[in-house]
Amino acid sequence: MSTSQKFSLELFPPRTPEGAAKLPATLKQLAATGPEFFSVTYGALGSDQNGTYETLMTVVRETGVEAAPHLTCIGSTRMHIAALLNQYRDAGVKRIVALRGDLPATAYSPAAPGEFHFANELVAFIRESHGDHFRIEVAAYPEMHPQADNISADFAHFKRKVEAGADAAITQLFYNADAYFSFRERCVKAGISAAIVPGIMPITGYQNILRFTANCGADLPRWIRLRLEELQDDKPALLDFGTEVVARLCETLIKGGVPSLHFYTINQADPTLRLCSALGIGRR
Ligand code: FAD
Repeated sequence: MSTSQKFSLELFPPRTPEGAAKLPATLKQLAATGPEFFSVTYGALGSDQNGTYETLMTVVRETGVEAAPHLTCIGSTRMHIAALLNQYRDAGVKRIVALRGDLPATAYSPAAPGEFHFANELVAFIRESHGDHFRIEVAAYPEMHPQADNISADFAHFKRKVEAGADAAITQLFYNADAYFSFRERCVKAGISAAIVPGIMPITGYQNILRFTANCGADLPRWIRLRLEELQDDKPALLDFGTEVVARLCETLIKGGVPSLHFYTINQADPTLRLCSALGIGRR
């Protein structure tokens, strides 16, 4: 495998003082592999939305690597988003991951007129207000977004996000390379030239991978689920198996010519470092 393979790493704002204290050391280990950029989630997994900016600043301070905030628009106002965009621009940010965000679990009241409902509106707003200053990444769902009416409607909505001005897309996690290749082929046929970067979730536990895949509607192949179930009480063996499965997925994707890989680190260095080492990618 080529060491020149590009990749990026995703973090979330730490939710506990212990998590915050651990972050600089984790960042140093991850930065040493030479990622293209770090991205920092916004409001995901119940995290504090203000934490994104702080984590972003920690990344820049501790590593000097480019950092990209995720920005979600659901339930927000143009004024609030405009203020955040200005804050990021002033801080030197050049890249944004633009998302709708998950609908709140509590009773949701539709946003008032003039506010945002879908990610394509956020992309258009960023382009209107900041021209080409930001590189804009959006989310893509090779196995369909779980709330979509059907896979073709979801694809049509994805196309609208790109037409609104997205430069690239990062996919939801998946364990079936064909889902990615089929999605990419559909993009080519539809004249979409934006880079489609696979989102890679390392496998580090049986219960958490069942939860992650169920939440986002990704297929966990039966043979993987059965092996993980069998190995769930033998952590070292489960980690070996998980690394082997995900490294094989990445190898297939790299051979298929992916522009980059985006690793969901879950704020841990080891799972991503194990994958980089198995793949022979990144600085060592
Ligand atoms: P959209 O592209 O707006 O799509 C949402 C749904 O609406 C889809 O079902 C789509 O088919 C449908 N749709 C889109 N446009 C229209 C339209 N015009 N009319 C009717 N239906 C439409 N969540 C967070 O809260 N914080 C994060 O930091 C975060 N980071 C993420 C990073 C990645 C790489 C990915 C893949 C997901 C991330 N998410 C995050 C989760 C994401 O917010 C959810 O999946 C969310 O439910 C959809 O966001 P989206 O930007 O894909 O929405």
